[in-house]
Amino acid sequence: MDQPDLTPLQDVRARIARAAAIAGRKGDDVELIAISKTHAAERIVPLIEEGQRVFGENRVQEAQEKWPALLERYEGVKLHLVGQLQSNKAEDAVRLFDCIHSLDRPSLVSALGKAMDKAGRRVPCFIQVNIGDEEQKGGCAIAEVPALLASAHDAGIPVTGLMCVPPLGIEAAPFFALLARIAAESGLDQLSMGMSDDFETAVMLGATHVRVGSALFGARR
Ligand SMILES: *Cc1c(COP(=O)(O)O)cnc(C)c1O
Repeated sequence: MDQPDLTPLQDVRARIARAAAIAGRKGDDVELIAISKTHAAERIVPLIEEGQRVFGENRVQEAQEKWPALLERYEGVKLHLVGQLQSNKAEDAVRLFDCIHSLDRPSLVSALGKAMDKAGRRVPCFIQVNIGDEEQKGGCAIAEVPALLASAHDAGIPVTGLMCVPPLGIEAAPFFALLARIAAESGLDQLSMGMSDDFETAVMLGATHVRVGSALFGARR
């Protein structure tokens, strides 16, 4: 049952903890990434002041406009990129973000590898997998994960796990379970999966990172 006296952040954290407990895990083992895309700094500040330290954006340019001032003002805030990344934005992304969830193709491996060499900064990445084999969706094909992982390794990119956005309008659990199996087969132990509508399911199936926007900030315009 929802407890109306909780803030959205407290509510989401409590739900993560409950889902983790059901799976015999600890809520603290799940990183909550607050997805602040489309929301202005004034909306983000209260969440930082409430104690949230990890945020996600899906566009490099929007993040460049909003975040440098916030990062200067608040210590210990980490920024994750969860949206598709164009190769020509790789250098900007490596400078600004602490983690990239959308490594999905060989040309981006090469751009990010060069950008990390140039910046002298190794940014951990997730390989995004097109888990529902959808035509229009970002992410590499399941069959391409091993080759992409090997080329990322050769390029000096630290790949820590797999990420997915399952198809809309259909139960997400089988896709989360499939991503977990592919990660295990690939020797990767982090899983970026679960959004506002399904993060509890994702946590029960092993998510180490959940990406939650509207449940924290309200609906986007
Ligand atoms: C917007 C977005 C989210 C958050 O979505 P909500 O449904 O608002 O929680 C998570 N992951 C990615 C990749 C997104 O683009």
